[in-house]
Amino acid sequence: MQSLVPLPAGLVDPFGRTVSYLRVSVTDRCDLRCVYCMAEDMTFLPKKEILTLEEIDRLCGAFIALGTDKIRLTGGEPLVRKGVMTLVRSLGARLNAGGLRELTVTTNGTQLVKMADDLVAAGVRRINVSLDTLDPAVFAAVTRWGKIEQTLDGIFAARAAGLAIKINAVALKGVNENEFDRMVAWCGEHGFDLCLIETMPLGDIGGDRTDQYLPLSLVRSRLRQSWTLEDSDYRTGGPARYATVKETGRRIGFITPMTHNFCESCNRVRLTCTGTLFMCLGQDDAAEFRQLLRDPSVDDAGLAQAIRDAIARKPKGHDFVIDRRRKAPAVARHMSMTGG
Ligand code: SAM
Ligand code: SF4
Repeated sequence: MQSLVPLPAGLVDPFGRTVSYLRVSVTDRCDLRCVYCMAEDMTFLPKKEILTLEEIDRLCGAFIALGTDKIRLTGGEPLVRKGVMTLVRSLGARLNAGGLRELTVTTNGTQLVKMADDLVAAGVRRINVSLDTLDPAVFAAVTRWGKIEQTLDGIFAARAAGLAIKINAVALKGVNENEFDRMVAWCGEHGFDLCLIETMPLGDIGGDRTDQYLPLSLVRSRLRQSWTLEDSDYRTGGPARYATVKETGRRIGFITPMTHNFCESCNRVRLTCTGTLFMCLGQDDAAEFRQLLRDPSVDDAGLAQAIRDAIARKPKGHDFVIDRRRKAPAVARHMSMTGG
């Protein structure tokens, strides 16, 4: 008699990796224009191509039913999408008994003075805030349109509301490379973790990326001259490798897609605001969900099957290269579309 082999619970890709983490870009729009992320004259998508908040919520629900237990809202700037708090509240209601373990947000901080309390009330406990520099002039240059006070006020409002904060900083050659000592000290002083990110070749930004790229291996060895970095096996389910800064007691993470490939432990997929699911940040293969969500004949079981089919195509990894011979980005879409 043939024995019945139980199907694995949740979503497992062809390489045996369990996919339990969904990043959702809720908008491609942003109130800033960071130089490594967007061109200054971005053309944004027409509204009809963007999933409604209800469509995003339904798709997230289908992922949660298949074992996704962590969702991060990102963008573009997630907190500038009109009505986004209804989505946050609806997802927040799925925390714990609803199957979701954690709901987080990655933001540039500009809206946090207004929204931090609401995020906490909806169940968000941790956020990532992008802040590449503490220097007001450098901040204005990197973000093109930003004022550092607005982001700093947002960060401190979030802290006052009780959110745990991780500061994300993209390491940029000749821009903020001499500031990391100061940022480690500042984060230590205020109780924030810090995560440094290498620039990734995503989307045309109207400039040459080889001018921006700064390997974190170099940053790390420079930091070691002033700080004791104790390697840590702490993981957030993300690609960062962490150390504890002995002098401050805070964590510092390094996301090094260029110098260290983190694909073997990848547990995530990314949904764009148009309903395209990218199974890998650095590959073009994708699954389309917008038509399915708008097709009345596709029920939740159909949606679940489409998700399983997509995960069955998750590639082994990416192949990012930044060098002078290869000027074009590895993939054409911007980070603001796929979500950071
Ligand atoms: N607007 C929000 C923010 O800035 O945090 C969320 C979206 S943003 C695309 C998410 C993260 O991606 C940010 O920390 C940003 O610094 C990072 N990012 C954007 N473009 C990048 C690139 N080309 N390489 C590496 N990180 C990038
Ligand atoms: Fe906007 Fe975030 Fe991209 Fe900066 S990194 S332009 S804040 S989406």
